[in-house]
Amino acid sequence: MTVESGSSAAPESILIERLAEGVYAAIAVPGQGSLGNAGIVDLGDQTLVFDTLRTPRAAMELSAAAERLTGRRATLVVNSHWHDDHVAGNQVFVPGASIIATEMTRDLMTSRLVAEYAQDVAELPAILQTLEKRLAVEGDERAREELGLRIAENRRYAEAIPSIRVTPPDLTFGREMRLHGKTRTVELWSYGGGHTTSDAFLYLADERIMFAGDLAFLDYHPWLPDGDPGEWVRIIGEIERLSLNTVVPGHGPVTDRRCLTLTREYIETLERLADEMARSGITPETVTDVPVPTPFDTWSVAQFAQANMRFVLERRRNRAG
Ligand SMILES: [Zn+2]
Repeated sequence: MTVESGSSAAPESILIERLAEGVYAAIAVPGQGSLGNAGIVDLGDQTLVFDTLRTPRAAMELSAAAERLTGRRATLVVNSHWHDDHVAGNQVFVPGASIIATEMTRDLMTSRLVAEYAQDVAELPAILQTLEKRLAVEGDERAREELGLRIAENRRYAEAIPSIRVTPPDLTFGREMRLHGKTRTVELWSYGGGHTTSDAFLYLADERIMFAGDLAFLDYHPWLPDGDPGEWVRIIGEIERLSLNTVVPGHGPVTDRRCLTLTREYIETLERLADEMARSGITPETVTDVPVPTPFDTWSVAQFAQANMRFVLERRRNRAG
């Protein structure tokens, strides 16, 4: 793998990593507003972009990188799921590109994203204030660094929201879609929904490369409350049967199938902790501290652990009731 850098056109919000001839990961640079990872695939006669980051500015850098690396503009754009850090840059690619996702992801984007942006506009000033107050009193160097990055990330996002036009997919599929280019075939799959109600991934069978979207995380806490943890574990189990050399997670560095295993273990760990907590009388309302074991204790956005645990405890209680 080589890292592209040094050119005057080098993007700031993503780091481009070459995975194979014509296949590149675009890894989000923390604090720059991109937040989620993306990918670029050259089909020989068309250029595909997988996921479009969290701001139009970052997506413009992704679009420019795709054009520079493949010699043509992207005409195929895939959204792995409806979350803003994977779809907000869609507008940069239209007109000119087809936006592809599952039918369910299209429904979720149209029904939930506009409301989410309105809510974030209302809530971001208070969130930023809280983060800045915590930074002012935080003594631990690592915690300070993470807080600084979260503040920068949220500032970029807050600046971007007024310019974001929700741009839903115009081409949808159910379980599977194949895109046959001149030099390679791209497989898009959805095994259902685990991280959200519908999650899709991109698979290159010849190269054994997978762009996982948020079905896989590494070094970042997975976000559970928009999905179904049990289904997520089932989906990862199905994916683990694929032949894989390289996996690009939705958040974190390029890796191999390890990120799938770790994401499954994270969910199973939280379920096990929830059982123990419920037995000692802890409820979704009273949970404060989640003792996440190694290696997850060093993963970023530790605050997600508490929201995740509240969600898992709530589901557990609903099932029991
Ligand atoms: Zn997501």
